[in-house]
Amino acid sequence: MKKIFTLTLLLFSVAIQAQSKIPSDFFKNPLAVDLVLSGTFGELRSNHFHSGMDIKTQQREGLPILAAGDGFVSRINIQHYGYGKALYIQHPNGYTTVYGHLQKFSPEIEAYIKKQQYEKETYEIELFPKADELKVTVSDLVAISGNTGGSGGPHLHFEIRDGQQRPMNPNLFGIEIKDTQAPTVNSLWVYPLGESAHVNGSGERQRVKLTPLKDGSFKAEQLNACGEIAFGVNTTDKQDGAPNNNGIYKINTNLNGDQIFQLNFDRFSFSETRHLNQLIDYEYFSNNKSRITRLYVQPSNPLSVYQNVVNNGTITIQDSLTYLYNITILDFAGNERIIRVPIKGEQPINKITKNIKETDFLVKANEAFSVEENGIDVYIPKGSLYEDTFLDISFSGDTIHLDKDDIPIHSNITIGFDVSKYSEESKEKMFIAKLGYRGRPSYSSTYKKGNRFTTGIRSFGDYTLASDVKPPSITPVNFKDGQWISSNENIKVKITDDLSGIKSYRATVNGKFILMEYEYKNNTLTHNFSDAVLTETENKLKVIVIDNVGNSSTYEATFFRK
Ligand SMILES: [Zn+2]
Repeated sequence: MKKIFTLTLLLFSVAIQAQSKIPSDFFKNPLAVDLVLSGTFGELRSNHFHSGMDIKTQQREGLPILAAGDGFVSRINIQHYGYGKALYIQHPNGYTTVYGHLQKFSPEIEAYIKKQQYEKETYEIELFPKADELKVTVSDLVAISGNTGGSGGPHLHFEIRDGQQRPMNPNLFGIEIKDTQAPTVNSLWVYPLGESAHVNGSGERQRVKLTPLKDGSFKAEQLNACGEIAFGVNTTDKQDGAPNNNGIYKINTNLNGDQIFQLNFDRFSFSETRHLNQLIDYEYFSNNKSRITRLYVQPSNPLSVYQNVVNNGTITIQDSLTYLYNITILDFAGNERIIRVPIKGEQPINKITKNIKETDFLVKANEAFSVEENGIDVYIPKGSLYEDTFLDISFSGDTIHLDKDDIPIHSNITIGFDVSKYSEESKEKMFIAKLGYRGRPSYSSTYKKGNRFTTGIRSFGDYTLASDVKPPSITPVNFKDGQWISSNENIKVKITDDLSGIKSYRATVNGKFILMEYEYKNNTLTHNFSDAVLTETENKLKVIVIDNVGNSSTYEATFFRK
């Protein structure tokens, strides 16, 4: 007995230690302004959980970004999309901080990157400096805030990762955000799950009416139900000083006083982030553009963000019994919003029917599936779908209708097209396109091998063969051919492509590579004269842009500088 007690105590203290290891005073504010957030850790985004905090930068670029702690620059990644220009600092305590969507870096880091960019003749680059190359001290200026990559407006994306590169909630490290407002409840939903389960006589998902009470909590209408049911909630949280609807931190549910489910955003890993599509009601999201968080765990859902889950968080309601189901939604500051749901067990009066669309194509989640017609084939690998699903698939000419985008896809589905009926010349200009709103084609990465084109897709919809015969267009933005532009800080050209999209670009002056930074959001290429690579007065600029099927455009102009 004593041994067991000692062991328990030991395990308990190990757990406490592991918890208390998170340093609460090591990391400092990465900006010199008060932290106001436009995004929180764990917030629900498109196909992923938000992996950091988005810090507002006063609606502008150009704020100094400071190292959150001592350490060294361990990685630099510059991409057209995603994090844009991003900096990673590794700290002596084993954590890494990440700074994304930067406009530029500190002069020392900028010089280090430019050297490599000119050597490799590329804007997009990933570098892993050694520990002694770019050392930083806490609050050193490391970069300037910006809006590069997949950013919807100027801000700093700030992350703290553990030694396994798993993003953690920065709030856990003592980075405090003023927040005096409790989370907002936008809507509550109930899901009858079992075959014969019902709520108020129906087997379908239903919205639950909520009444706000004086103390800030909500009381739900009484539900008459029977069988296995579960809930979902649409909820957001605001911090002080900004109107942004951000994510919540934690949700607890309990049934008749016993906890049956907890969701919390302390940490997750990038390998699981796409399973967000199982946490939310994907079908509802796809049709309504708003996210319901399921307060239960489906059998195939491996997410690590759940704790203390009993019976997957679902409830089995029995006839003639009463239940009180409580939901508590919390933000990191501890402000809470409570919803109380009274449930009465009642056999259904009529037989419960569920609306399940049946088609000729039942795809099992645990088995691979393939179908072919009209020279178009589809291969759905095992594990692409989360659950067994009837898919609506039809073929017409060069187009395949592959259901619609309200069923989540986890891993790539392959679509192949036999293009043997087309001439070599037309095949060159062809690509696989997804048909969007009003049938507008958008490029889907197309692999061409002889008479077979393939593409990997992660959203259902209509796919077809399209053709792009028009080369990209290139136009000068801030200069004219033959002009003197000694006072310009940079030269900009606008590059666009009407259909397949831009694949690559290259610029030279007097035959020598010059670095041009591509910003897809405003379709511009920019060369900064501060790179100091232009030494002549007369400069013959040449810009070549190639689209995704290989159509190429060349723009040439001469400008003068002294
Ligand atoms: Zn972000």
